[in-house]
Amino acid sequence: MKKTLAMLLTLVLTLCVFSAASAEGVFRVGVKCDVYGFGYQDEMTGEYSGMEIDLANMIAEALGYDEVEFTTVTAATRGELLDAGEIDCVLATFTITDARKETWDFSTAYYTDAVTALVEDSSGITCLADLAGKTVGVSSGSTSARSMVAAMIEQGVITDDTFDPETFDPATYDGPVSFLLFDDYPAISTALSAGTIDAFCVDRSILANYMTDGRSFIADSFAPQQYGVATAKGSKLSGEIETLITGWLEDGTIDGLIEKWGL
Ligand code: GLU
Repeated sequence: MKKTLAMLLTLVLTLCVFSAASAEGVFRVGVKCDVYGFGYQDEMTGEYSGMEIDLANMIAEALGYDEVEFTTVTAATRGELLDAGEIDCVLATFTITDARKETWDFSTAYYTDAVTALVEDSSGITCLADLAGKTVGVSSGSTSARSMVAAMIEQGVITDDTFDPETFDPATYDGPVSFLLFDDYPAISTALSAGTIDAFCVDRSILANYMTDGRSFIADSFAPQQYGVATAKGSKLSGEIETLITGWLEDGTIDGLIEKWGL
């Protein structure tokens, strides 16, 4: 009897391991191509590298996929591609927010960044207070503009009794600071050089890619951005990825990646 039970248990365990390791096929991941250290694509070789690329490869290996296919996403396209089923998950500096959690599942955060702004030194702008009345470039689909207005109100730099973070839309915002929306980050950087905007606002890790001589970060940083792996709501993958990420947070693997990429 004992022997039969043991055999049965072994069979069940083997089946479990086999099914976990037989996800098979291609793991399709949405990543950034222009955020060094997170998701960066070498233009010559087409190869992607960064902490988020390593995580994608590790997830694919742990879940038994045969190969990983990377698709470049932007802040504006990552959710749409996930909704359309063109990618299985997003690993692309995607901040976990309550509003986004209503649409997608997010893993526990694997990295936390903060928002700040990049300016041309010649502008004389050095802090958040200097941005009142100015035009700031942000990416469509990002949290940046809302974070900046909230921080300016909190610091008492501007007042705006109509500000509601739930309904805030940078495209139509008509407050004491204005926003111009762009499809990608290189376009915002070009607009900053051209003087079309006074500042470029997004997470510091993204801005670091556009730091050049004659440019500086403003003194303030605000709105902690917790990056999570996003998956389709209620999908089997959500739970599997969450287990992997929490395990790698506990055993120091993620700290190791942060150190490897100098983040
Ligand atoms: N991390 C921020 C967000 O998810 C900035 C946008 C971006 O990731 O490109 O909104």
